[in-house]
Amino acid sequence: MTALVIDGKQLAQKLRSEWKLRADRLNAAGMAPGLAAVVIGDNPASKIYVRNKIKACREIGIRSEEHVLGAGSTLPAVLALIDRLNADAGIHGILVQLPLPAQLAPAVVIERISPDKDVDGLHSRNLGSLLSGHPRFVPCTPAGIMEMLKTTGLNLRGKEAVVVGRSNIVGKPVALLLLQAGATVTLCHSQTRNLAQHTRRADVLVCAIGKPHAIGGEMIKLGAAVIDVGINRSAEEKLVGDVDYGAALQRAGWITPVPGGVGPMTIAMLLCNTILSAERHAAEQGIQLGA
Ligand code: NDP
Repeated sequence: MTALVIDGKQLAQKLRSEWKLRADRLNAAGMAPGLAAVVIGDNPASKIYVRNKIKACREIGIRSEEHVLGAGSTLPAVLALIDRLNADAGIHGILVQLPLPAQLAPAVVIERISPDKDVDGLHSRNLGSLLSGHPRFVPCTPAGIMEMLKTTGLNLRGKEAVVVGRSNIVGKPVALLLLQAGATVTLCHSQTRNLAQHTRRADVLVCAIGKPHAIGGEMIKLGAAVIDVGINRSAEEKLVGDVDYGAALQRAGWITPVPGGVGPMTIAMLLCNTILSAERHAAEQGIQLGA
């Protein structure tokens, strides 16, 4: 069996051209969608991620601004910036790029973002809405994963879904989304005994571990849809996922590549959430958007 590759770059491009029309309508109505990205510290990967997000915003007509704070920034300084962005009517989405320097507790910083502008969907109020089945902003990576699964045409109802990794950013929210879609979900983590026993049952396998090639071919059910979230550097300095891609190609029904899989979809869903936020804002103000 040779798996079908779910091309995240191509799918993101297609969705972005649809969302550009929505951004155009907002701009035409004088409600330019606006995103503020906050980068704190010198993490080179964070800088690249934010640069890519800003570039993607520009391409579809979202106004974006980058706020760069030094690695030694204090909590009051960071919270003051977030307060200012919360109060700025031209900003509909605020993202704080993680990880943060050690002196800043991510939970405290994220909780300060207005839930109405939390386009990463990580504020406890937004995670709570997701848990209750009525999400306002779905976290970007899990939302992107669900879009990728849609392209397989699989009906998730009754399927065995196994998620490896239980972070608040990826593992837990994607498990909730799969549950809402009707799958029977198993959530695995570093304490899980005999991981392969679980993964081998999975019709849908989502891997968000952060360990290169932790999932070998023998851990994949024949024909499964495998979503590889991990971004790791191999010994040869190449970007690789959590899944042994070559082996997965021989067993899975569908597989996402790294790079070019979940990564571009994460950025695309950020754009979608920002447009959604601006549309809600327009509706609250009684602004009519053209057809
Ligand atoms: P975290 O480090 O927050 O979580 C990793 C999870 O994997 C934890 O729940 C941990 O378990 C679990 N884990 C670690 N080792 C094992 C193991 N051997 N077996 C089973 N479970 C294990 O990472 P994130 O969720 O933030 O990210 C995961 C990966 O996805 C990273 O490579 C990251 O770079 C990538 N990523 C990619 C994105 C994209 O857009 N493509 C977006 C976000 C992340 P425990 O809780 O018990 O410690």
